Amino acid sequence: MSTLLAHRVAQMKSSASIAAKKKVTELQAAGHQIVDLTVGEPDLDTPGHIIDAAIQAMRNGETHYTATPGTPALRAAIGSKLRRENGLQFAPENIVVGSGAKQIILSAFEATLNNGDEVIIPAPFWVSYPDMVKLYDGKPILVVCPESDGFKLTADALEAAITPKTRWLVLNSPNNPTGSVYSREELSALSEVLLRHPHVMVLTDDIYEHIIFDDAEFINVVQCEPRLFDRTLVVNGLSKSFAMTGWRVGYGAGPVDLVNAIVKLLGQSTTCASSISQAAAVAALDGKQTFVTSSRAEYLKRRDRMMELIEEIPGISVTKPDGAFYLYPSVEGLIGRTTPEGKVLQNDLDVSIYLLEAGKVAVLDGAAYGLSPYLRLSFATSLSAIEAGCKQMADAVSKLR
Ligand code: PLP
Repeated sequence: MSTLLAHRVAQMKSSASIAAKKKVTELQAAGHQIVDLTVGEPDLDTPGHIIDAAIQAMRNGETHYTATPGTPALRAAIGSKLRRENGLQFAPENIVVGSGAKQIILSAFEATLNNGDEVIIPAPFWVSYPDMVKLYDGKPILVVCPESDGFKLTADALEAAITPKTRWLVLNSPNNPTGSVYSREELSALSEVLLRHPHVMVLTDDIYEHIIFDDAEFINVVQCEPRLFDRTLVVNGLSKSFAMTGWRVGYGAGPVDLVNAIVKLLGQSTTCASSISQAAAVAALDGKQTFVTSSRAEYLKRRDRMMELIEEIPGISVTKPDGAFYLYPSVEGLIGRTTPEGKVLQNDLDVSIYLLEAGKVAVLDGAAYGLSPYLRLSFATSLSAIEAGCKQMADAVSKLR
């Protein structure tokens, strides 16, 4: 007899990026040389002073449960970070630490969604949002943001999507998967709409805040419009900025009743984020920030090289991303083309499968991110992998009829 699963789990999709990682690992284990451009995490190592702080914490006996919302030291460090870098004043009771930003986002939905409540998610989106919403009986309202709008939500599209059942708007800038970054003007226009609809809360997922290029500037919606302060949850974490994905530390800052509800949920699930990781996070936030700038310079070099190589491939076109570590090229020019085996490429999933099989390069299809026909290519990998991957893509594409 097969295991009886709850409907909410049975209907849930697995994370596309986690599934891709598994597939690549399996292929590599079977002896295939695959260039992996699916990675959603920095390939760089966590800076040494952060690791030292974790070791010191263990030596000091900081190996026990902590307070559920986070250690006082970490909540203070997060409060200082939000003041220093974002000009936002959050008291410790407005801050909750979780095992990654992912847990905070999930818990925010768990804490607030009732059956049929709507969550506006601009597409392309980070793959997890819609399934997280569905897990708590919410209804994801996917609003397509075409490339011609810079993959960004416009005020008109937001206005049209809001209903009396709207509970949240999710904003993610810099965006995974497009790398688009909202400007102050664009956020002002969205804020004007939001001010007309006081029942809508805003979740701003700022996880890629520091990975930003050229003249783009990071700003979130509540920095832009302080009147949204009482209904915005700022979500951020250490994963991307400090190459700390495996440490699992993220946080939310927002209204105290929402934060308390999240704390209640964490208290009945994980109890607290790892005590050791929290100590490391204090060192990351309070310590020298050189890694943030040096890694940004490294990603910029890689972005530019990948742009150069992708732009040379006929049938693929790409808008330059202002942030994060992904390109989101259109493969419209490849749809309808035929592989040497005689298969017609019908959609971006077909393209990604063809590139994996014929080019030995792993990429993710845009369908997983809510806008086709696109691919998501990660440049959080070495320059040599970027060069090899793009060359293999170009060779595979050149064989299409
Ligand atoms: N939000 C976005 C947009 C992401 O891309 C990711 C990770 O890929 C997360 C949140 C989760 O980050 P964390 O590692 O802090 O859970």
